[in-house]
Amino acid sequence: MAIDPQPDELLSSWLHRLAIANGIAPRLFANVLGLGDGMWSPRLDLRLPRDVAALLCHQSGVPQEAISGMAMTGPALSPLLLPLRENARRNRSTWMQYCPQCLAGDEAPYFRRQWRLASRISCFLHGCGLRDRCPACRSGIASFDQTELMPQQFCARCAFDLRRASKVFVKTSARRLERSIDDICKVEMAKGATTIGELISRLLRVPIIAGVASGKTLTNLSTSSRIRCFEWLADKPVSWLTADEHDAVARRRRLILAAGGHGRLIAHFADFMDKHQGSQSSVRSPPPGADLAVLLEAYSRATDRAIRTKRHPVLAVLRG
Ligand SMILES: [Zn+2]
Ligand SMILES: [Zn+2]
Repeated sequence: MAIDPQPDELLSSWLHRLAIANGIAPRLFANVLGLGDGMWSPRLDLRLPRDVAALLCHQSGVPQEAISGMAMTGPALSPLLLPLRENARRNRSTWMQYCPQCLAGDEAPYFRRQWRLASRISCFLHGCGLRDRCPACRSGIASFDQTELMPQQFCARCAFDLRRASKVFVKTSARRLERSIDDICKVEMAKGATTIGELISRLLRVPIIAGVASGKTLTNLSTSSRIRCFEWLADKPVSWLTADEHDAVARRRRLILAAGGHGRLIAHFADFMDKHQGSQSSVRSPPPGADLAVLLEAYSRATDRAIRTKRHPVLAVLRG
C-alpha cells in the first residue's frame, strides 16, 4: 500500500506509517527490512544504507531521492541533532520532539524533521512550546518499538493520545530568538559560510552561557530546560552570538536578531525603501529563490546611509 511522504516528514515517521498501512507493527517491520532491534528507524534517519533505500523504493513506489530526502544526513546541522536515547531520564533530552497541535491538524499524523534539532523549542505555526515526552507516562517517543497496529500519535508505552497534550507556553521573546537563530543558520548555510561550524559551537554552549544545567551541551537538555535557556538569553545582549566574528558576519547576525527573523527583516527593509527611496516594487514578498544574503547586504548598506539621520526600529542595535 502506497503512503506518500508529507512535507518535512522524517524518514522514521514515514516508515512507521508505511508499516501500519501494510498491517505490520513498526517493531516487526524492522525484521521485514532485515534490521536490528531498538531504535532501528531513528538510526536509518542518520544513516540510510543504499540497499535499504533501494528496497524501500521498490516496495513503496516512492522515488529513492524522496526517501533519502527524508533522512537527516545533511552534515552542517548534524551536531545540533538530539542524540538517540531509548530511555528518557529526567531533565535530559529525548531523541524526538513534537507539537500536539500539528499532530492534531494532520490527516495522517507525522513527525517533522525540524523537531529533531536541539535548537528548536517551539512550533513556528502554532506558537506553542514543543514537547519531548508523553505527558501521561513521561517516556520519550518510542514509535519504533510499537508492537501493536497503533498509529504513532499514540504513545507506544501507554497509548496516550499525544494530540491531547496541553499547550506549553513559551515567552514571545524566546520564540523570536529561536526564529532568528534558525534564520541565521539558514543564511549562513545558503552562503556556504565557513562560520557555520563556529555558530553551531556557540549554540551548543547555550546552557553554559545561560547558566542552566552547567556543563551540559544543548543537545543533552530536555525541551523544557532548553526553553528556560532561550527565555533567559532572550533578554540578554546578543554578544554571545556575535563576539569575535568578522564585522560583516556579526552585523548580519545582529540585524536578524534585532528584527526577530529574516521575514520581519524583509518587511522592515520594504518599509525603509518605501520611506526613503519611494521604491516602485515591493520586496515584502521576495520571489522564490531570492538571495536573502544579497538582500541583507543591500539593506545593511541602505541603513548605513541613514543611520545618522533617522531612527529606525532595527537601527538602534547597530549604533552600539
Ligand atoms: Zn504546531
Ligand atoms: Zn505514555
